[in-house]
Amino acid sequence: MPIRLHNTLQRAKQIFEPQDSSRVTLYVCGPTPYNRAHIGNFRPVIVFDTLFRLLRAVYGEDAVIYARNITDIEDKLIAASLETGEPIKAIAEKYAGIYNADSKAVNALPPTIEPWATAHVDEMLDIIDRLIRKGHAYEAPTGVYFHVPSMSDYGQLSGRKPEDNEAGARVDVDDDKRDPSDFALWKFAKPDEPDDAIWDSPWGRGRPGWHIECSAMAAAHLGKTIDIHGGGIDLQFPHHENEIAQSECAHGEQMARIWMHNGFLDMGGEKMSKSLGNVVLLNDLLENWHGEVIRFAMLSGHYRAPLDWTDDLLAQAKTTLDRIYGALRRVWDAEDVDSPSRDVFDALSDDLNTPEALAALSALATAANTAADQNDADAMARAKADLLDAGDLLGLLQSTPAEWEQGGNSDDKSRIDALVQARIDARTAKNWAEADRIRDELAAEGVEIMDTAGGSTWRKI
Ligand code: AMP
Ligand code: ZN
Repeated sequence: MPIRLHNTLQRAKQIFEPQDSSRVTLYVCGPTPYNRAHIGNFRPVIVFDTLFRLLRAVYGEDAVIYARNITDIEDKLIAASLETGEPIKAIAEKYAGIYNADSKAVNALPPTIEPWATAHVDEMLDIIDRLIRKGHAYEAPTGVYFHVPSMSDYGQLSGRKPEDNEAGARVDVDDDKRDPSDFALWKFAKPDEPDDAIWDSPWGRGRPGWHIECSAMAAAHLGKTIDIHGGGIDLQFPHHENEIAQSECAHGEQMARIWMHNGFLDMGGEKMSKSLGNVVLLNDLLENWHGEVIRFAMLSGHYRAPLDWTDDLLAQAKTTLDRIYGALRRVWDAEDVDSPSRDVFDALSDDLNTPEALAALSALATAANTAADQNDADAMARAKADLLDAGDLLGLLQSTPAEWEQGGNSDDKSRIDALVQARIDARTAKNWAEADRIRDELAAEGVEIMDTAGGSTWRKI
């Protein structure tokens, strides 16, 4: 089954055909690392990781080049540096590190390339220079601007008119622009700005605008025309529209053949966002929920639709995953065979239909239980292979069933293992009071110790 993807440019699903099947290119706009990202920011991480996994399954692991940038030149980083007195680089490295650790916790593979904006200023200057020479950009007292009326087909992605730019960026409306819809490619430094946010340019010291950063990083690593460009729906306009304007006017080629946008993660009926204050941090969720539960909950809605984030959604995801891991446990010792799971693959190939893919995964768990009930060795082997193959495509079932039962979190596991051992030692020393105290302490956090002839094991209940 070919992969079909919804292309925002066409407003329709189309069959995905890469320009070169030995070098499939995917670019996704990454974070501005100025504080901890909220769980809404991880929706694109998980959605495009699932696409990355699907593309790798079809074209080969080395054939897919996925770039996700770090926007380490941005107003919010400058503000954070002025507020804390810390250098921009230190803030960016700290929060990019947390972002990558959080991504790993929800089983997102590291992207092939993680370009940092500060390492690509020369490429940005090069594009700006081309745009000026081709009559698409001009110098003004406050910076260099892209002249939107110079591009006849501006607005192809969002269907919005140039005037909307004006409303969308009211704070940026400078008197020295030729047209109110023009946007900044290079902003001249202002007196109170930190030195580490200022670069030299042929037009004056300053820093690049946000949009040109992605245009430059995408072209530098993936080429002038990329296969798929992704991001959240809020980036469609003006960010992606302006990336297209810059890249296509500078290079004379289409920037991306397919544009994909994920819908919002909502909470309490509104977009989760720092400005509204209705945010949940991944780090906090991980205290109570395994990363796979969070990933499962995120994939339970189709990526283009809004998804309402609730405790109930997480609880349901946990119940379903417990059942699937329970089935996997029953076939775990079956022989290893090859059995690619078509249903999950087919569902994902249909514009990443993850709700259907998760339903197919549950059906595989049912098949595994049936095979185990009937003690059918061949069917058990196939069921195990199907489950693990589907799990790899979805970024799920990455723990063993035994690890899953023990909560799957390795720090937690070693701490509990140590307590269980301390209890064994207390019993050996006939210190029954201490042994009982440890049992009660573990029971209070939902850990049950099971004493067997072979020793003591434990599970989370
Ligand atoms: P930002 O740091 O706000 O630029 O966001 C980083 C990425 O997360 C972008 O692709 C945004 O579109 C996406 N994003 C931000 N908030 C949400 C949300 N509530 N739901 C889904 N995606 C979001
Ligand atoms: Zn971008």
